[in-house]
Amino acid sequence: MSKAIRVTVWSEFRHEKNPEHPASKLYPEGMHKVIAGHLEKQPDMQVRTATLDEPEHGLTDKVLAETDVMTWWGHCAHSEVSDAVVDKVQQRVLSGMGLIVLHAGHYSKIFKRLMGTTCNLKWRDIAEKERLWVIDPAHPITEGIGEYIELPHEEMYGEQFDIPQPDELVFVSWFAGGEIFRSGCAWHRRRGKIFYFRPGHESHPTYYDGKVLKVIENAVRWAAPKDTTVPVFDHHPNPLEKL
Ligand code: ZN
Repeated sequence: MSKAIRVTVWSEFRHEKNPEHPASKLYPEGMHKVIAGHLEKQPDMQVRTATLDEPEHGLTDKVLAETDVMTWWGHCAHSEVSDAVVDKVQQRVLSGMGLIVLHAGHYSKIFKRLMGTTCNLKWRDIAEKERLWVIDPAHPITEGIGEYIELPHEEMYGEQFDIPQPDELVFVSWFAGGEIFRSGCAWHRRRGKIFYFRPGHESHPTYYDGKVLKVIENAVRWAAPKDTTVPVFDHHPNPLEKL
């Protein structure tokens, strides 16, 4: 059996600690614990969690070196993530670590850095229905999902989503209010794979939905590093052919 995929589930973990916030009732241990709890049940995954308020946000050099795929949820404290940590996460992605960016992570420093655009979008939180349609049925991230995922109450994210054109567009969401959104998008950045997955507003029980968890599980397997080519850069004085 091949080696387990080492997953680090990272979360800001602030809303859940605020007793006034609905997230404290829905996710008393934090959203990351619910996501990690599902991934831990997978025999091919080895899971740890890390949060903003730990030293170095829980992302020490050792943790980063031992992470094959990272998931990232942040919202109200993106600016508190240190640039030094963002630099290191970016380097890990370029060298092959997978990154799964969840919901409000669209505005995280690391996602904006990797995309090179504002990553802004339209939003409204009145707990309306969301239907995420699978539009790439050959994509491994859609395994076991069926034609769509329906979430009765979610925050709306609408286009325009200011991202570079995805390399692979996997899901498109429809909202009861009429907007649509590219809700499952994949990119390659050098040796690393990035997947953005939209649902997961902290005031709704989205991370208890079996299909949402299944997408995250599938995305971890898709983004896990493979034995791909290590690119060579810079001055290359010795040609392969005799000249
Ligand atoms: Zn939200």
